[in-house]
Amino acid sequence: MKLEVDRTRLSSEIEALASISDAESPAVTRIVFTPTDLRARAWLTARSEEAGLALRQDAIGNTFARWAGSDGKAPAVGTGSHMDAIPNAGKYDGVVGVLGGLEAIRALQRSGFRPKHPVELLVFTAEEPTRFGIGCLGSRLLSGSLSPEAARRLKDGDGESIDEVRGKAGMRGELEDVRLPIGYYKAFVELHIEQGPLLERQGVPLGIVTNIAAPASLRISVGGAGGHAGGVLMPDRRDALCAAAELILAVESAARSSGAVDTVATVGICEVFPGAVNSIPSRVRLSVDIRDTDLERRDSVMRATENASQSISAKRGVTIHTDLLNADAPANCAFAVVEALSRSCKKHEQKFLPMVSRAYHDSLFMARIAPAGMLFIPCRNGYSHRPDEYASPEDIARGTLVLAETLATLSA
Ligand SMILES: [Zn+2]
Repeated sequence: MKLEVDRTRLSSEIEALASISDAESPAVTRIVFTPTDLRARAWLTARSEEAGLALRQDAIGNTFARWAGSDGKAPAVGTGSHMDAIPNAGKYDGVVGVLGGLEAIRALQRSGFRPKHPVELLVFTAEEPTRFGIGCLGSRLLSGSLSPEAARRLKDGDGESIDEVRGKAGMRGELEDVRLPIGYYKAFVELHIEQGPLLERQGVPLGIVTNIAAPASLRISVGGAGGHAGGVLMPDRRDALCAAAELILAVESAARSSGAVDTVATVGICEVFPGAVNSIPSRVRLSVDIRDTDLERRDSVMRATENASQSISAKRGVTIHTDLLNADAPANCAFAVVEALSRSCKKHEQKFLPMVSRAYHDSLFMARIAPAGMLFIPCRNGYSHRPDEYASPEDIARGTLVLAETLATLSA
């Protein structure tokens, strides 16, 4: 089997898809179920049909393009990623895994390889949370991590429900039928840009993901007592911002003292009411994002945050209320997939770095229903989610080659 990736075609397809955008080039904006997203889907469907793949779309718009295997009953080997892009994003996030996956299948076809297991390109709906406020909508439903009832309660910024929006976009069928049975995939591999600087910094062209970290998101409201900045003397104060400041530092210290570099915690939003120079803050709203590769460690930071809330609340006479927005479990990549990826790297004499995915991806959810793994390629300066996001054609082709080899191993 002589595997060759058509780098020129792959690069021109990445450019072609980038031109289907609601932002001016080089920026890409492609929000799920907008006319632009539907044009991108139609474009990809045509490319998949050209490759002789059989198309299927589920009720949330996840798209499956299948290359039949010689064993009609064997579970499929899947690869893919997402095509939606946040406002003013780049050309490569998700797209490299979709078009690289398609080119990997074509490279295998050209090589004369015939799989025993079907090889399937899977394009996930709404990996980005832009429209419905929740990331990985398609893969959450595929894996049963989000129930159809909970999905139906989601609304976009215009107050339209998922069912209304997907109906207008021409997606038919019941959300109940989206979930895939365990065993549907023998394995799932996602090619993706790193979205961090490590590969580039270390001069290593490929990263094999061993663990995918997962975030817990909290919204914390602190309620104190407002008043005149001159009139209310210090012993009488219940300043919500001072309490919030203590809490922010408690979150930081809980993450720092976890004993592992993989534990990270961030307070990214701090809204102060009423927000006037001569007024004591009466209310503060914080957003807290806690991530780890280990669920127990991540949850212990959440418990430490809750304990700190209680003691600060008692000490300062303020109310502190916490809403848990989401708390997904981290995932370990499957040994069989990691092995197949590293053997493919060695076969093509490519160096690789075992690494942790600190952003989460659809593979986090696929790992709940299939042995899953991820392959990273470098992106310039680690930039992502911005118009100057860049991965070189050489790096994309290298990742695609190793992906193709891995799909061959897993589907033989
Ligand atoms: Zn992505």
